[in-house]
Amino acid sequence: MKVIKIGGSIQKDEKDYELILEKIRKEIDNSDRNIIVTSAIKNVTNQLLEIIKNMDKSTDIVTDIYDRHIRLLSKLSKGGEFEKTFQELSKLSDELYKIAWSIRVIDEVTPKVKDYILSFGERFAVALLSAFLRSNGIPAVHISEPVLVTDENFGEANVLFQQSKENLLKKMEEVKESVIVVPGFIGKSLNNKYTTIGRGGSDYTATVIGRILGVKEVKLITEVPGVMTADPKKIPEAKTIPRLSLEEAVELSQLGAKRLHPKTFDPIFNTDIKVIIEGLYEEGNTIVEGSCTKEDTLKGIATRSNLELVTIESTNIVGKIGSAATIMSEARNANVNIIAISQPVTETVIQLVIDSEDKNRLLEGLTKLSNLIEDIQSRKVSAVSIVGCGLRNKEISSKVISKASPFDPLFISRGLKGVSLTFIVDEKDENELAKELHEAVLEWQTK
Ligand code: ASP
Ligand code: MG
Repeated sequence: MKVIKIGGSIQKDEKDYELILEKIRKEIDNSDRNIIVTSAIKNVTNQLLEIIKNMDKSTDIVTDIYDRHIRLLSKLSKGGEFEKTFQELSKLSDELYKIAWSIRVIDEVTPKVKDYILSFGERFAVALLSAFLRSNGIPAVHISEPVLVTDENFGEANVLFQQSKENLLKKMEEVKESVIVVPGFIGKSLNNKYTTIGRGGSDYTATVIGRILGVKEVKLITEVPGVMTADPKKIPEAKTIPRLSLEEAVELSQLGAKRLHPKTFDPIFNTDIKVIIEGLYEEGNTIVEGSCTKEDTLKGIATRSNLELVTIESTNIVGKIGSAATIMSEARNANVNIIAISQPVTETVIQLVIDSEDKNRLLEGLTKLSNLIEDIQSRKVSAVSIVGCGLRNKEISSKVISKASPFDPLFISRGLKGVSLTFIVDEKDENELAKELHEAVLEWQTK
């Protein structure tokens, strides 16, 4: 059995679908069943979010989404296939219109309604993709309702594995076609409410299904030919990484090297399932499987800009149980995500790295703690990270640290199982340090 995920950014025009058809023809196993997970077509999830933000335009946005799907459908399918799917898309669009209209009248959207609205992107996409495949002689069928069963944590719902497995197996029994197109990203709760599992959730849907069905391989077809050693827009020498261990993949995707849902690899831990991230337009892929091996040295770098290093100094916090907790809870109350934390053993300083846009909110919250904190400073910084199992090897990690030391990092931290190192540096040093560390990656890759 195979699981293949087709990304949303590669579903925009006829030419894309021709390439998708070629890929699917090559990938599917004709003697077995194949699950195709699809995202909403390009930009539709963003447009659905716009409906909520910009209620005055909501019905126009629905019209635009509907028109784009119908236009694509008319190019991608013929005759009876067109008719049938046209009706299905029109029915969905009527349903979406009604909701768009009612939220405009009520002028309020709950997280539950938001997920209901977001569910349409993938529900439209499954119908379109399966009509296209059938029109090209592939024995495809689609399941328009979510296959994942989740809790009701709307927006970030948690997958209930056992129930999802029962649901998927039951749905697979109800159809006889060998290619089954299912929606990514969306789920349904036990109370039958639509949920979503977080942005980029189609990749995670694919790995969950892969785990449930016990497949050997999950393929994620995307815009880029695999995970790259760096962002090629910033570092032109960047290359595709041929292999990543799971730990490396988790660290790199969390750092934003390839925008993957943070839980994408969770279902694969302790299995021998391979995840292959492959490009639609260019040859090349990254194979993610297993844990660190001796061959895994340095794999890639990632940077993060627009950060703020907030330095809190006080002798009042020394040796006092709960002072860090008090500072952190202020951050939580101000709804500020902490990206990195450090405290020396003297306990006189606590440093937090946050997004620049959160700075004012955090500083405002911290002023409430004037009896605890003597001084607060903040400065603009960047995070430059390097990933590779080789960082657990002293020889490699000391080389990397010596490359970074001329930039006088403000602090250094290690990630999951020691396979990443992050340097917080002044924002002016970001590009130079990134280049240096990327050179180290290429050097070790060719060793
Ligand atoms: N359509 C959803 C999103 O844009 C899920 C996905 O693309 O994976 O976030
Ligand atoms: Mg997507």
